[in-house]
Amino acid sequence: MKSDIQIAQEAPMKPIRDIAYDLGIKDEEIELYGDYKAKISFTAWQRLKEEQDGNLILVTAISPTPAGEGKSTITVGLGQALKKLGKKSMVALREPSLGPSFGVKGGAAGGGYSQTVPMEDINLHFTGDIHAITTAHNLLAAAIDNHVHHGNDLNLDVRRVSWRRVVDLNDRALRNTLVSLGGRTNGFPREDGFDITVASEIMAILCLAVDIKDLKERLSKIIIGYTKDREPITVADLKMQGSLAVLLKEAIKPNLVQTYENVPAFVHGGPFANIAHGCNSVMATQMGVKLSDYLVTEAGFGADLGAEKFFNIKCRFSGLKPKASVVVATVRALKMHGGVSKDDLKEENLEALEKGVENLEKHLENVSKFGVPAVVAVNRFPTDTEKELDLLIKKCQEKGYRVALSEVFTKGGEGGEELAKEVIDIVENEVSNFRTLYDTDKSIPEKIETIAKEIYGASGVEFTPQAKRNIRGLEKRGLDRVPVCMAKTQFSFSDDPKLMGRPKDFNITIKEIKISAGAGFAVAKSGNIMTMPGLPKEPAAERIDIDDNGQITGLF
Ligand code: ADP
Repeated sequence: MKSDIQIAQEAPMKPIRDIAYDLGIKDEEIELYGDYKAKISFTAWQRLKEEQDGNLILVTAISPTPAGEGKSTITVGLGQALKKLGKKSMVALREPSLGPSFGVKGGAAGGGYSQTVPMEDINLHFTGDIHAITTAHNLLAAAIDNHVHHGNDLNLDVRRVSWRRVVDLNDRALRNTLVSLGGRTNGFPREDGFDITVASEIMAILCLAVDIKDLKERLSKIIIGYTKDREPITVADLKMQGSLAVLLKEAIKPNLVQTYENVPAFVHGGPFANIAHGCNSVMATQMGVKLSDYLVTEAGFGADLGAEKFFNIKCRFSGLKPKASVVVATVRALKMHGGVSKDDLKEENLEALEKGVENLEKHLENVSKFGVPAVVAVNRFPTDTEKELDLLIKKCQEKGYRVALSEVFTKGGEGGEELAKEVIDIVENEVSNFRTLYDTDKSIPEKIETIAKEIYGASGVEFTPQAKRNIRGLEKRGLDRVPVCMAKTQFSFSDDPKLMGRPKDFNITIKEIKISAGAGFAVAKSGNIMTMPGLPKEPAAERIDIDDNGQITGLF
């Protein structure tokens, strides 16, 4: 089979203006970025706001393994299959970050015949949103050091600056730096460091804001550091929210592209799935829900993190109400959850597969706790044997789960019709009683315990002295009545990445709690979370190239 990039380059793309027209978007609402990309203006949202909602479908997955699951691929494939069955469908995905594209992962726009296109553009610079976020973030960093240099009227303790700098690359050398070196005219030397742009709180804010007013309000609440008395200093104190919002005025508009089979696709925003909530922008999802009958979207990592945050954070803030959920599983990943090592995945192993199904089961139980009906999508890989696929499907049926084999990677929408029929059946014949899992009025420990016990299956939660101090500080300042954003390993329900499957009898340890006051959530860290990745020994960057005609190779 051809590589993802070869398939994408052959995609029979339609002019994006035509795709937008078919959605009912008006000429004056389309802002073209070339022939195949466009931003959709605010006037469209003003017009659409009062329209009736289509059906929101969330694609999530089992706990990820290095064997891969394919959430984006299934999201795109399902959108294409729904179109084949005569539905007005759309997809909404995250925008890939340059860091992983040139690091280990390669691009991220779906796979095979279920991709969004133009794939190279989506993976490289795209419409400049990530650059805008980088610039806004670093303008604020510059304003902070400038404030200190010019007298520090706000009494900022330079040892307690929490606003670091960002760049959208994997660069471990920048994790910890010194700034303002070189003498009096360069400010007050202090320790600083860089995160990857998608870990910026501004990315999370852009993805949660419902309009410009909300964007500005959230920006103004960002806490950039503390005084010597530990009182928070905000963007509003520095009077920077207007400038930051101006830098983001285009970035906040959803980007419209299309899939291989010309299904309209919003690719907009891409916050980290650990220290942030890991889904595309609210603006794109809510606009997509108004423009289509079926809007298929995804959330990062497995359902314990991605879907939990999609429901408890994104849907809570925006009022979006999902109708159905698709839980992606693969034979390969379930075999790993059943104890098989990555090197032995090619061998048929029914026993390990059967054992691994317990991971899938727990994720399905979790999704039902939010009142959302689910269907399992078995993402077929070339190495899967018929016996393995039959067993997995049989196991799901025995337990009363809806299940559909998906071959959208090799066959495009046609390979997802069975899944699409299940989704349509859920929407037409089942009721979604969507609810969030906890009340934000509960204390931070109560909210974390609810997630740990209900979703992870933990026996309890331990808080380190540092975490307890953080909680007391937030309570004292009235900053604790917000949703919790869990930053935990994605590889296990527990906080130990090696405990695969469905671990039991474990505690979760919370090491630190940080407030993202602008985004509007408290981040609970259960381990060391990397916010600036490094490059591997042989980065993808060494394989990526461009020929004399401008044709890109090696992005996959
Ligand atoms: P996720 O969204 O879960 O990270 P993606 O959809 O991005 O996963 O897929 C991860 C990788 O696996 C991509 O390179 C994609 O091309 C590949 N992939 C996905 N599904 C299949 C499949 N059925 N067969 C082969 N490769 C696949």
